[in-house]
Amino acid sequence: MNKTIFSAMMLVAVTGNAMTITGDYIVYECPYCGAKAHEAELGSYNTFGATFWSDFFRIAPMAPSQDVVSRCWKCKKAFCKWSAKSTTVSREFITSNRMDNPYITWTGDYLAVKEVLVAEMRKADPDDELDLRMRLLWAANHKDRKAFVEQRSDKKITEKEVPAAERRENLQRLSSMTNMPPMLKVEILREMGNFKEAKAVLTAFKKAHPEEYKECEKKFKKLEAQIEAKNSKVFVW
Ligand SMILES: [Zn+2]
Repeated sequence: MNKTIFSAMMLVAVTGNAMTITGDYIVYECPYCGAKAHEAELGSYNTFGATFWSDFFRIAPMAPSQDVVSRCWKCKKAFCKWSAKSTTVSREFITSNRMDNPYITWTGDYLAVKEVLVAEMRKADPDDELDLRMRLLWAANHKDRKAFVEQRSDKKITEKEVPAAERRENLQRLSSMTNMPPMLKVEILREMGNFKEAKAVLTAFKKAHPEEYKECEKKFKKLEAQIEAKNSKVFVW
């Protein structure tokens, strides 16, 4: 389930295509106290009014949050949704059973749920690891999108800053992973300040896959401009 969701998110990030919600809900059970919470199942989602960043992070007001780690509304403990017991139910079920908590929630503070993410990463396969590491990268990059977010919406980024060494280590591991879209690979190298390598990967991709490059040409060009400017900070597409 998670992999499909992440691939879908990747696709949206790269192509900007809008998607839709399935109409079903996933009910999660807290592994500590058994309290249930639910969220809309992400077959796809509405990206109306969404903002996309170069690290594939997005804020989409019409889309469910889809955080991997949730904090139980009842016992307040954090747990990974992938490892929690879950069932898919219809919208009618949610309405007729009057679910205690409308939506599964997370404060979005990476440092507060770090242990859960690290434990999950240990048992993850490469695709799941990529997914989890992307969450860490997003959290680490929030400091650079804070002003933008707070200026344009009522949302606040309350996340504590991820230590630079931790961000660096994560980027290094990400740069050695092969299971990601080329655009993300270029972005990771750029964020590491490896501008030469980032440019080389971009150029090689353009040469080897001209059609795919053409499809996302605007984004690739923006990325290239940032590489040329030797800017390693995250930016809005
Ligand atoms: Zn609980």
